[in-house]
Amino acid sequence: MNVLACRRFCAWLVLAVFTFATCAIPIQAADNIIVLKAERMFDGKSKTLVQHGVVIIQGDKIVDVGSNLAIPSGAQVIDLGDATLAPGFMDAHTHLTLDYSGDYNVRRLHELDLNVSEQAIKATTYARATVEAGFTTVRDLGSRFVGSREFVDVALRNSINKGVIVGPRMLVATKGIGATGGHFDPTSGFRDFLFGREPDYTDGIANGPEEIRKAVRFEVKNGADVIKAAVSGGVLSLADEVDTPQLTPAEMAALIDESHRLRKKVAVHCHGDQAAREAIEAGVDSIEHGSFMKPETLTRMKNKGTFLTPTLMATEWIMSKLDNYPAALQAKAKAAGAARSDMFRSAVKMGVKISFGTDAAVFPHGQNAKEFKLMVDLGMTPIDALKSATANDAELLGIAQKVGTLEKGKLADIIAMPGDPTADMTATERVSFVMKEGKIIRNGPPIVQTTAESTQATDIAAPVD
Ligand SMILES: [Zn+2]
Repeated sequence: MNVLACRRFCAWLVLAVFTFATCAIPIQAADNIIVLKAERMFDGKSKTLVQHGVVIIQGDKIVDVGSNLAIPSGAQVIDLGDATLAPGFMDAHTHLTLDYSGDYNVRRLHELDLNVSEQAIKATTYARATVEAGFTTVRDLGSRFVGSREFVDVALRNSINKGVIVGPRMLVATKGIGATGGHFDPTSGFRDFLFGREPDYTDGIANGPEEIRKAVRFEVKNGADVIKAAVSGGVLSLADEVDTPQLTPAEMAALIDESHRLRKKVAVHCHGDQAAREAIEAGVDSIEHGSFMKPETLTRMKNKGTFLTPTLMATEWIMSKLDNYPAALQAKAKAAGAARSDMFRSAVKMGVKISFGTDAAVFPHGQNAKEFKLMVDLGMTPIDALKSATANDAELLGIAQKVGTLEKGKLADIIAMPGDPTADMTATERVSFVMKEGKIIRNGPPIVQTTAESTQATDIAAPVD
């Protein structure tokens, strides 16, 4: 080989090695295996906890799960000790762009001067608090700013999906649809024409079946994953009674038909019994709150497979802070609070499908898990309460193929809580480890063991209050 040929060969060799090396990097990264171990595991399906739970994760997926599995060589092992592994929790009723937890009148006044962009920045902290509390998925049921058309929930969801900020997977509803003067009318309680015009379908306010269809189409056009509507009065609104029906059966039929045509599920805010019956007949996917539902209505729900999202935390918070609300709202809260416990007990006894949802925003974000103990105190078994926040919510949200249980091939959304939640339900409030799609978002004080050289740093973040 002459000198020139040798140089050419060397250049080729360098290029080949470089090409191989650059190609090899992603393969190595994809091969990186994490093993999570804990004394117990709730897999989302079984009636009891699995002892000595092991979950093996590669990339963003679970590749194996079971009891006492063999550890693949070279894996990074995270032994969480006296803890319980579980699928990432889900909350089927949040408002991650809002905070209604303080004084009602102060908040309403503040809404008028707060820039929506500033609220959006605050929302990034609510999203972080929620995922750090172990909630890796939320169905966010309404994001509305009086006098603004901003779709902050869509922006938050997209920013999380793109990795710009840290937060739970979000399915968003944009404005929520309701009638003039109803629970969702953002101008109720203000003097007429203060905002220059009556709200219309672009604000989610629609009257008559055709306008309701237009509102659904407008929301889907702007990024809604799910449709939310207010079909009865509510607690935190000033111009309505808490249990009156607010859509006609024809409007309800149009709402649900149009949404289902566009392959979107429908969640309805509903305290009243009549409105619930009409929504269930029209084929709604979930009743939110449901405070005044009678046993006959619950029977219809059970027969049709309609979910109940009880949001016990919302009434609990309002009842514990009654002084924060005007007298008219206090009276509505007391009536709904008195009715909802019996309704929930009956729903559990009758076997109505129950999805876990809290109405976070009514209380501070990140306290979602307090709902678990309320459910158990009202007659649900701990395992069923855990299922409601995992497998049941995944079914209701239409994402059970991807998440909701610890199974081979599912996305690695995995959390751990100390001790045994079936012995003490408040363990759910002390989640110490959170993984979303194979990435560690939070790790409390685990014993980290590494069986091989690993450069993967564990992100230890302080819990948010
Ligand atoms: Zn709500």
